Amino acid sequence: MPHALVIAEHDQGQLKLASFAAAAFAQQAAGSFDFLLLGAGVGATAEALRKAGAKTVLVADDAELAQPLADRYAQVIADVVKAHGATLVVAAVSTFAKDVLPRAAALVDAAMVSDVIGWENGAFRRVMFAGNVIATVELEGDIKFVTVRSAAFAAGAPTDTASPVESIAVEAGQLAKFSTFVSREVKKSARPDATEARIIVSGGRALKNAEDFERLVGGLADTLGAAVGSSRALVDSGITANSLQIGQTGKIVAPELYIAVGISGAIQHMAGMKDTKVIAAINKDAEAPIFEVADYGLVADVYEAVPEMIQKLKK
Ligand SMILES: Cc1cc2nc3c(=O)[nH]c(=O)nc-3n(C[C@H](O)[C@H](O)[C@H](O)COP(=O)(O)OP(=O)(O)OC[C@H]3O[C@@H](n4cnc5c(N)ncnc54)[C@H](O)[C@@H]3O)c2cc1C
Repeated sequence: MPHALVIAEHDQGQLKLASFAAAAFAQQAAGSFDFLLLGAGVGATAEALRKAGAKTVLVADDAELAQPLADRYAQVIADVVKAHGATLVVAAVSTFAKDVLPRAAALVDAAMVSDVIGWENGAFRRVMFAGNVIATVELEGDIKFVTVRSAAFAAGAPTDTASPVESIAVEAGQLAKFSTFVSREVKKSARPDATEARIIVSGGRALKNAEDFERLVGGLADTLGAAVGSSRALVDSGITANSLQIGQTGKIVAPELYIAVGISGAIQHMAGMKDTKVIAAINKDAEAPIFEVADYGLVADVYEAVPEMIQKLKK
């Protein structure tokens, strides 16, 4: 049986729920797993991991790990993999994992597979070409690194017993320092992040400017307590921020409800949201491809339909 290590992801101590989906995969593939949490002052975050079925919650807590700099994090992960004899290292698909995991894999000379949605007899199923191809991949070598799509693995229910926490000694002076943290600019938003949200309202080229996007897509999202998303058409035209983009080259999401507002349904957009449980689309073109995947469709002008929806929902 492999010995699995799940890298718990957090944003300034705020745990990413996708880490529990990664744990569910590790449990399936290896029968048991340890969590590894890296950061500075992450005691409370470690507590939040203790009822997720891990054998042990390993915590590397050091001021030098305050920011997720890939060179340092990869080194600590590689050291833990060697010291604990881990043979399967798992993280949820994310920008963080894309940055850190391949470096850690290279440090221990291990093979890696990304975007995994299934596992059978030692082979991994992964999504390719915007979801049009599912490849079955076998990795060579004793140690395997894997990132998994969180939508494919349901997080388990909290356990009654709490996992023990074990502290990992970090030799700060020995850490790789190829990169230096300069600053962090965070766009403050009261809205949830699209990768964590139950509902996403996403806007496309039908929205003519940033004010309309905020009023219609943002307004509908706020009425529903939802996250906002965007097609690449709006990102490219400077109407929405890059961080909102959903799709092949944006975020991959799988909420319970995705409301596409004036989005045509290009294959690259759908690659990022087609695992959604319920898709609703509003588009004035009845032939728009989004209606082929939508569970509910409304053929209407978004400038008329969305204000009416907001008004009715508020009532
Ligand atoms: C390599 C590559 C990667 C890409 N990655 C991504 C990605 O990650 N995410 C992504 O989104 N795209 C991506 N794209 C771009 C993608 O191909 C599409 O161009 C893009 O998704 C289109 O965005 P859209 O649906 O908003 O715009 P359009 O395709 O122009 O669709 C706009 C829709 O709005 C409807 N509409 C217009 N006005 C109204 C109105 N008043 N009321 C109601 N409906 C209206 C129209 O009928 C139309 O269906 C990628 C492309 C490439 C080549």
